[in-house]
Amino acid sequence: MEQTGRYGDFGGYYVPEVLIPALEEIEKAFYHFKDDLVFKEELESLRADYLGRETPLYFAKRFSEYVGYKVYLKREDLVHGGAHKGNNTLGQGLLAKYMGKKKLIAETGAGQHGLATSMIGALLDFDTKIFMGSVDVARQSVNVHKMKLCGASVVSVSAGSGTLKDAINDAMRYWCSNLSDTFYLFGTAAGPHPFPEIVRYFQTVIGIEARKQILVKENRLPDMIVACVGGGSNAIGLFSGFLEDESVKIVGVEAGGRGIDTTHHCATLTKGRVGVFHGAKGYLLQDEVGQVFESESISAGLDYPGVGPEHSYLKASGRAEYVPANDEEVLDAFEILIKTEGIIPALESSHALAYLISMKGKLDPNTVVVANLSGRGDKDVGIVEEHRPLK
Ligand SMILES: *Cc1c(COP(=O)(O)O)cnc(C)c1O
Repeated sequence: MEQTGRYGDFGGYYVPEVLIPALEEIEKAFYHFKDDLVFKEELESLRADYLGRETPLYFAKRFSEYVGYKVYLKREDLVHGGAHKGNNTLGQGLLAKYMGKKKLIAETGAGQHGLATSMIGALLDFDTKIFMGSVDVARQSVNVHKMKLCGASVVSVSAGSGTLKDAINDAMRYWCSNLSDTFYLFGTAAGPHPFPEIVRYFQTVIGIEARKQILVKENRLPDMIVACVGGGSNAIGLFSGFLEDESVKIVGVEAGGRGIDTTHHCATLTKGRVGVFHGAKGYLLQDEVGQVFESESISAGLDYPGVGPEHSYLKASGRAEYVPANDEEVLDAFEILIKTEGIIPALESSHALAYLISMKGKLDPNTVVVANLSGRGDKDVGIVEEHRPLK
């Protein structure tokens, strides 16, 4: 391939031989269409009128008073569909259409990416197939129902543990035998090249907007930017706008489950070791012989045992810092944002907020922080109620 998709020693494409031509075809089409005027115009227009961009950069006054420094929230929760995922599914869906593909396939865990893909499948008239572990299908029946309403078919995968990594394996297998008319719409900035680069590209809009907006509001760059990290797409979207700004501290917050000192499997960048997973080299939750663990946390959207190669690189190079937030801290953060701002954050996004709360009173009051509010938490109200019933 033209470019091997390496981030330092990480990334690459460790895939079966039959997939190489398909990845090359996507890579070539991506480099072509991203600079194509007609493609760019259609993407711009749908970003504005379908997704509702640009999203606001909101000064969270009462939350700022609570933590003792200035917090701005990048409101990706206001993107159509309720999270940043639409930025990626719209971009890749459009790419698939320009490539002349007829079918979309995607993997999904909690169902959020499956639903975001199904919406774009309806919008752009694709035949859409979503691969989902059988355990997840049972757990996430509302999302399954919504996907079907969009006209997608949902393939329940009972192999292995019946969760996300099994769904990815099956989606890859299906793709191998349906390459000519099918586009694999990958859900995060991970997997084999060129997916990390493509997903980053479509999520960069977050960082580009946020940088411009903070310069207008504060007339200077932020001191710190913070985002939650699952596979890493919303985080790399925000981070990419500030990587060259050396004065800006960059923090990624990953799922710490019940606590990183427990036997629970969580916090890929904090506790994981380097290995190859889903077609790329990076940090990974695995045992001594390379068996991959299921990650466990309160937020299904962060339950991915790997992480995108660029985050592995940013950790290794020291440009970004990665910290875990555990479930209890996340539930606290969820409650505090609602009580201070009347905004229901996704449990995933609440990881970023939990880090901000952990810095309460430790930063100068003039410190300016931009945090990515990756999604809204309506989907999580039931889970929170199970852990913390209202009196
Ligand atoms: C899926 C999801 C995430 C995690 O995915 P990344 O690729 O790490 O961004 C984070 N927040 C929300 C709201 C999500 O739906």
